[in-house]
Amino acid sequence: MLTVERKNKVVSVHEFADVILNETTNQYTLYANKSYEINDILTFFTAGEIFTEPNSQTIQTGSHKHITLVPRFLQYIRHSCEPNVFFNTSKMKLICVKPISAGEELSFFYPSSEWKMSQSLICNCGSPNCLDIIQGAAFLDNDSLNKYDFTDYIKQHIISRNNKVLNQ
Ligand SMILES: [Zn+2]
Repeated sequence: MLTVERKNKVVSVHEFADVILNETTNQYTLYANKSYEINDILTFFTAGEIFTEPNSQTIQTGSHKHITLVPRFLQYIRHSCEPNVFFNTSKMKLICVKPISAGEELSFFYPSSEWKMSQSLICNCGSPNCLDIIQGAAFLDNDSLNKYDFTDYIKQHIISRNNKVLNQ
């Protein structure tokens, strides 16, 4: 039987997390190196570059406003339909939303900050509640809108869309 060995290489070590390169898939990921409880702050962040259109490294903070993250390694936090962190873009804090053990991969829910993503993602997060195709908050049903945390910008977008529907 052929077994594929997973090779994980530590690329850099930071105060709250380590950047790990999976040499099998060539993907970078971020792993917590401490444990956290819900509402703990893992780190503060700031905006690097600001773009008018989204790309794979940006987080949306407004209409036509998409920032890269500083520290830059935060871009390696991948999507999960059962996320353990949330980017609060009003307070510029990375917050724990599900208890995290040291050595656990950090993940966030992409639509929590993205209204319409630049590219849709076929999700393989393994959660029993996996949404399968991730395209942004604009495409979520009400169950998902009630279940997840969203940035203030996305919340406003959801409210104004609902008002438009009601006024039609
Ligand atoms: Zn998923």
